[in-house]
Amino acid sequence: MHAHRLSIIVEHLWNRAIRRPQQLVVFCFGVTVLLLGLIAVRGMILLRDHEMQSLQQTQQLRVAGISQLLSAESERLIFLRNYTEHLLAIQKGPYAVPSDGHLQAAYAHRDEPVWELPVPEGDAVLYGVGPAQLQGLQGFERRDGDLVAGLYVARALGYLISTDPPTAPAIERKLTYISSNGFFVAHPPVSRQDVPAIMQRIARSAYFRNNLPQANPSREMRWSLLPAEDGRDDMYLTLSVPLYLDEQFRGVAVVEISQDSLDNYLIASTHTGVRSFLMDAEGNLLASGGSGGSVKPGAQFSSVVPPAWRDTTARQLLSRGAGTLRSPDGSRLLFQRVGDTKLLLVDYFSASDLLEVFMSQMSVLFGASIVSLALLLWATLKAVSELFAHYLERGEALRELAETDPLTGLANRRVFESRFAIERNHRRRDDSALSVLMIDIDRFKQINDQWGHASGDRVLKTVASVLRETLRTIDVPARIGGEEFAVLLPKTGIAEARQVAERLREVLAQTPCEPASETSPASPAPRISFTVSIGAAEARMESCDELDALLMAADRRLYAAKANGRNRVVSDDSVVDDPRQLTQTTP
Ligand code: GH3
Ligand code: MG
Ligand code: MG
Repeated sequence: MHAHRLSIIVEHLWNRAIRRPQQLVVFCFGVTVLLLGLIAVRGMILLRDHEMQSLQQTQQLRVAGISQLLSAESERLIFLRNYTEHLLAIQKGPYAVPSDGHLQAAYAHRDEPVWELPVPEGDAVLYGVGPAQLQGLQGFERRDGDLVAGLYVARALGYLISTDPPTAPAIERKLTYISSNGFFVAHPPVSRQDVPAIMQRIARSAYFRNNLPQANPSREMRWSLLPAEDGRDDMYLTLSVPLYLDEQFRGVAVVEISQDSLDNYLIASTHTGVRSFLMDAEGNLLASGGSGGSVKPGAQFSSVVPPAWRDTTARQLLSRGAGTLRSPDGSRLLFQRVGDTKLLLVDYFSASDLLEVFMSQMSVLFGASIVSLALLLWATLKAVSELFAHYLERGEALRELAETDPLTGLANRRVFESRFAIERNHRRRDDSALSVLMIDIDRFKQINDQWGHASGDRVLKTVASVLRETLRTIDVPARIGGEEFAVLLPKTGIAEARQVAERLREVLAQTPCEPASETSPASPAPRISFTVSIGAAEARMESCDELDALLMAADRRLYAAKANGRNRVVSDDSVVDDPRQLTQTTP
């Protein structure tokens, strides 16, 4: 039962839809495009998840790279510390003067502000700072008794530090040993005149002060972030460790990694469209890659991400270790702790960055399907509209064929009847007048006989064209029989109908018709003159608005016109003669 009703509904909808084929095609295409769009969106979501996974994997690799780099540095620093402490222990004095000639020569300048030990080209430089320079610097203290031992240690370290192997990838870094007794060994080298200022800066620097016994009692290695020593608009990531001999603080070893080279490392390893940041637990940015731009000293994570992420702190991320966060605006944070350091690598990308990444992969596929869909839509619409136009044309032709008389092009009886029904309804509504005329050609048989049937047809056509030309557009002339015509005259009373009929009669009588070409050349007159008789009737006058009755009345008067000599109009029954006269006058 339900199925039946459903099938009726479906059929109804289909019948309605098929009446507008163009709209139907556009609708179907719309639905197809919508479905394709949904599939594409689903594909994009899958692709995005896939992309996210690949971004995560890339991040893991990069974190592994950075972590390996940093742990290599920390191992190096531990080795440097152990080696130095070992040297300090075995070189422990007391020495009066160095036995080595070079050292002795340098030692002679030990009380100058800066004294230098000559080293082979390319080695780390070794400077000593005079006692006056160390005065007042916290953590420094000139101990003359240890000076020769310190000099031996510094020289041995200079050789070790200068053989610093290159890192992979190439990271620009600086190794420095600062002894509390005023020795300064650095690789790559610095120039002599900068040494006093450098010592001042070191004494003030966080990595030195944080390694003093009271600040770092457990003597552990520490990462810290510092502005560049030479005052450039740059930052350094430093790893430092204090050195001790016999429980006495003897200095600090430090490795500095330049932010530029960290940036370069991040840039080289970051996906396009992603902004990558290396930061510490306080949210201080150490380096940036991708579209992040270079990090300014003191820049904070919260100042480089959009407001949605301002409340996310580095500590929160560090405590979670690794993961992905998503904000309501569609942007994402991918974060991972770097090894066991307190550093964090964070990749940020906005929704549009992500979209860009997907679109760069989807655009060809998308473009191709949209172009082919558009082509298909165009071709289908064209075919449908041409077919539709063709059928409309055919329908129009069929309609004309069904509604008009092929010989004269006038309405046929069927159309006359339906037009009459329409006009009669008008009349019933507003009680307007409505008249009909019946027109019959006089002695048409004779015309046929004399001129031939084809010429008779021409006469019929002439009558039709005169009717068309003479009548108003609202009037309806029709051919309702062989040589009989009827005219519907809406909003026309009998008096006016009579005038119309008279005019028609006169015009027709004065419109001779050319005979058809096959007429014999012997025929006396070149043109066929003819007349018509017309009977008129009005609905109101007949107190009847049925077509048959009206036509009958008009026909009766037409016969009266014939009986009274033809070529005349009769519009009432006063002249209807007895039928005998009619028969008499008919040949
Ligand atoms: P009357 O004046 O009394 O009307 O005389 P009539 O000769 O016209 O008589 P009637 O109206 O009865 O004649 C009708 C003739 O019209 C008969 C037929 O040969 C002719 N006719 C009917 N249809 C056509 C047609 O389509 N073409 C031609 N050429 N003649 C037709
Ligand atoms: Mg007739
Ligand atoms: Mg006739």
